[in-house]
Amino acid sequence: MFYNLNKPLLGLFLFVVSGTAVFSQTGRFQQAADYKMEVDMNVTSNQYTGTQVLKYTNNSPDTLYKVFYHLYFNAFQPGSMMDERSRSISDPDRRVGDRINALKPDEIGYLHVNELTMDGMKVDYEEVETILEVTLPKPILPNSQAEFKMSFVGQVPIQIRRSGRDSSEGVRYSMSQWYPKMAEYDEQGWHSNPYIGREFYGIWGDFDVKITIDKTYTLGGTGYLQNPNEIGHGYEDAGVKVPKVDGNTLTWHFKAPMVHDFMWAADPKYRHEKVEMENGITVHHLFIPDPETTENWEKLKEYTPKAIQFMSEHFGQYPYKQFSVIQGGDGGMEYPMSTLVTGGRNLRGLVGVMAHELAHSWYQGVLGTNEALYPWMDEGFTSYASNLTMSAIYQPSDNPMRGSYMGYYRLAKSGLEEPMSTHSDHYHTNSAYSSAAYSKGAVFMAQMGYIIGEEARDRGLHRYWNTWKFKHPNANDVIRVMEKEGGLELDWYKEYFVYTTKTIDYGIKAVNQQGNQTEIILERIGLMPMPIDLVITYKDGTQEMVYLPLAIMRGEKAPEEGAPTRIISEDWPWTNLTKSIRIDKNKDMIKSIEIDPSKRLADVEQENNKVEF
Ligand SMILES: [Zn+2]
Repeated sequence: MFYNLNKPLLGLFLFVVSGTAVFSQTGRFQQAADYKMEVDMNVTSNQYTGTQVLKYTNNSPDTLYKVFYHLYFNAFQPGSMMDERSRSISDPDRRVGDRINALKPDEIGYLHVNELTMDGMKVDYEEVETILEVTLPKPILPNSQAEFKMSFVGQVPIQIRRSGRDSSEGVRYSMSQWYPKMAEYDEQGWHSNPYIGREFYGIWGDFDVKITIDKTYTLGGTGYLQNPNEIGHGYEDAGVKVPKVDGNTLTWHFKAPMVHDFMWAADPKYRHEKVEMENGITVHHLFIPDPETTENWEKLKEYTPKAIQFMSEHFGQYPYKQFSVIQGGDGGMEYPMSTLVTGGRNLRGLVGVMAHELAHSWYQGVLGTNEALYPWMDEGFTSYASNLTMSAIYQPSDNPMRGSYMGYYRLAKSGLEEPMSTHSDHYHTNSAYSSAAYSKGAVFMAQMGYIIGEEARDRGLHRYWNTWKFKHPNANDVIRVMEKEGGLELDWYKEYFVYTTKTIDYGIKAVNQQGNQTEIILERIGLMPMPIDLVITYKDGTQEMVYLPLAIMRGEKAPEEGAPTRIISEDWPWTNLTKSIRIDKNKDMIKSIEIDPSKRLADVEQENNKVEF
């Protein structure tokens, strides 16, 4: 639906005024949403009831006349947008396919809101599949608060995608996207995307959640358990004897500060193990014991703390005191302070998925990029971080990014590539989405090291974290940080690599003896310009690098550690298709000439990158 916040006349007035006065653009702001929920889960009917008190703070300069809630579970019904999309897309997710269409009434998911009030006033609302459109009884003014109260009822769908009951591995409840969740409103307006199976964006706030459930179930998820010594299930303090409870249920009380979502999982078969890290972080692992996989889960307990440590050193300090790796879901999915992963994996697979989902704590959890608009800044940077982490903690690799580059090259040659600026719901194919978001997004960051230098890029990652944590950075924000750390203009990099599908292809066109010099003629064949590191290896074993900056960078990267002695060439203007450089050595002294032996330049045709004599 279309919803215009500004009254047209006011807009016109501002436009006229801005002609003569300094126009101050609307600044960035963060909405806040503090949730208090009490939920009752019936493990026989798989239905639940709940109450929610939501303190919503409008920190925007805009007056809000409407708000929107996500009701994700309504996607799991025959005929939903998610069902239609999964059956019409040419390469459906095999986990979904036509399964939603086949769900029976007691297998579907639903989430319905009853009795919604705002500051005690009755509120009009309309459920439009996965979005609740709410017309407010009085507007929420800038810098003011409103309190929404509701009750809701839900049914947990058979596990189809991410959340649900009775997963293929027998996990009873993977409870993500399970409660009415306020949509995010930011400087780009409302983000009330219908759920068609991909990507989330939420408001940070404090969650206080009480879950009443059959007492045989063990729970894990987002949030610190407030009553561990009443609950037990491995959460109790050492030496505490947990009192027996009367009745069949336990009420688990969780609190999670500064998170934008709340996931929980529950199963009576879970084994729960705790690891206390030296820095005060507690790592929980919850899994269903199985002769094939228990050993891997036992070993995983060593790797999760190592990964938290490595990522904190390289990408910014993990800000919570807890992380939980929980068997559940249908692959690997990130949530604040936790992840749901399938458990039937070999050790490498299990450590790999943990590292990936944990890395999301940085890019999805705390930086909180809008994954619908900038999936590459979440999945891509997460893949970049987890590639490095796996090489550091599991198996050293000479090129941890190889897989990401290969994925991008396949995409670029597939004919299916769409620009990374595509809204993640609106990619034409799943493969174009995933290769762009995961592979090309990781290449974006790895290649940043080629453009501004590894050290500047690494400093940039810390600066990005320190500047933008809990603030929803966009594409421009990450570029600006890297421009500042690298001392270079990088708008062209964003414009070509993010907004277009133009590719990089440079080649060595000719090498000629010219008097007692050697002339090397380089050519740009691809449409995307890049700076060039050209490495010349002489027959005596020495090396030199000719560095050709792009004129539009307005500078040069700092020399990189471990690189050969560098000769800085004059700039190569992007308009010029060829560039001739001269070396004060005879051609017969040269063994080979190669464009970027580091393989960080995402050159889609590498055959023409090297000549050997
Ligand atoms: Zn991911």
